[in-house]
Amino acid sequence: MDDQRIAPTRTASVEQRTDAIQAVMEARGMQPGAAIDSAYQLAEEEWVPLNGGRIVAKAWTDPAFRQRLLANGKAAAAELGLSMPPHHRHLVALENTADLQNVIVCTLCSCTAFTIIGLPPEWYKDLDYRARAVRQSRTVLKEMGLDLPASTEIRVWDTTTDTRYMVIPTQPPETIGWPEDKLAAIVTKDAMIGVARLPGT
Ligand code: FE
Repeated sequence: MDDQRIAPTRTASVEQRTDAIQAVMEARGMQPGAAIDSAYQLAEEEWVPLNGGRIVAKAWTDPAFRQRLLANGKAAAAELGLSMPPHHRHLVALENTADLQNVIVCTLCSCTAFTIIGLPPEWYKDLDYRARAVRQSRTVLKEMGLDLPASTEIRVWDTTTDTRYMVIPTQPPETIGWPEDKLAAIVTKDAMIGVARLPGT
């Protein structure tokens, strides 16, 4: 091999790359800093798992809402004042039972119904989770602390750009009769992704 045109393999760090993009945008009169600040604020204050928790709590306590949620998740979320970006065309609610565990993944990247259940955790974006959640779902759940009996069916749902999912966990029996706001607070992001169950279920 005498080809002298081999490209250098060094890759800039994430910080260097984002700084470079920011510098180019600023040079063209854009203000990425403001957009980034506003995204942080949305992520921390508005795109919170409590949104999904409210949906789950209402589904647990209101059978008619539960039916509407299963039929059209996005419309049911809107009833609670919860919105999704236009390109999230569908919200599909997946109901767990004692014998069925639904699990969400995005094998391509990291898509979630983030305005409803919150932004994806770091492990959700990991290539390892994305590949193995499909091929070795029972093992992956066990590694994450959810050791399901062999009799429990696992269904893995691959998110797309326009179809987002949320898992409706089974309700802990000791919480039956609680008010909705108290129920909403016990629903975790992991339970709505399907890699955890709520205590007592
Ligand atoms: Fe994705």
